[in-house]
Amino acid sequence: MHDIIIIGGGPAGLTAAVYARRAGRSVLVLEKDALGGQITWSPKVENYPAVPSVSGLELGNRMAEQAMEQGAEIEIEQVTGIEDHGDFRRVRCEFGAEYDGKAVIIATGAKPRKLGLAREEELVGSGVGYCAVCDGAFFRGQEVAVCGGGNSALQDALLLSELCSRVWLIHRRDRFRGEEKLTEALKARGNVEFVLNARVTELLGEEELSGIEIEQNGSHRRIELSGLFAAIGHEPDNAAFADVLALDGQGYAEAGEDCRTGTEGVFVAGDCRRKRIRQVTTAVADGAVAALAACEWLDGRA
Ligand code: NAP
Repeated sequence: MHDIIIIGGGPAGLTAAVYARRAGRSVLVLEKDALGGQITWSPKVENYPAVPSVSGLELGNRMAEQAMEQGAEIEIEQVTGIEDHGDFRRVRCEFGAEYDGKAVIIATGAKPRKLGLAREEELVGSGVGYCAVCDGAFFRGQEVAVCGGGNSALQDALLLSELCSRVWLIHRRDRFRGEEKLTEALKARGNVEFVLNARVTELLGEEELSGIEIEQNGSHRRIELSGLFAAIGHEPDNAAFADVLALDGQGYAEAGEDCRTGTEGVFVAGDCRRKRIRQVTTAVADGAVAALAACEWLDGRA
């Protein structure tokens, strides 16, 4: 039995682990994939205080190392649900593993939003991707497209413009949501084509992506390319917790700034929570708040 089980090993979960360990609690972090969370997909982070510039991967790794140095246990597991047993909560995982914790902090972040195109799932890994940092190198010297207009899309396009022969940046509006500084950097690249007021309507190619069809200002055209990176935001991944969390219309956990949920012993931190600003800094802030709230709740039961 652990004092606190933290579901999710991104900035929120790892910060919660550091705070809970420093408060003397036994901590188990369950992560389904790679430690560090979504930030590891960011080629460069320049808005984390005291760290002027760092790759997201390095920042995530440093957070994971710090949590482990503080004594947090970590298991790679995909959590499928939480059972409330009154005195403790049982966390069930894929392939049958179960872990018991007195309190649980859900810090599952969010997953990339899909374009919703026919054959999108089928072509993931065969030309369609959601992480330019992870997969961009496969497209060295080739033509690729990035879809989206936020900071992720702009950063992805910048990264890919260093590797690929040409980058088509496709956005559904005539202005970007992301930072002007990034847009200016992209304009200075000779191999980035801005395709505004446009939507991807079709994925072309049989086993591998060979191109896309786009609709722009009412007319359709095809672009031949090898890769398409969708960077159109994220969605929460809370479905497995619907019986212990109240979810809002978009699937985010209903919890206030104190990170407490309506369920005894269950706390929520980071991007999976309903909130206005989702940044690495707000995720780490939530991690601290949720850990201290869980410790206080445990103290109240002692
Ligand atoms: P985002 O800011 O929500 O942007 C998503 C973009 O995708 C928007 O431009 C949106 O268009 C577009 N979009 C959404 N659904 C679409 C659809 N179905 N089809 C086509 N386009 C669609 O998401 P993000 O870029 O992932 O960024 C998330 C947060 O992380 C932001 O706060 C961002 O600033 C932050 N971030 C920070 C860094 C950093 O280095 N510090 C790096 C990456 C991200 P509209 O503009 O028309 O809505």
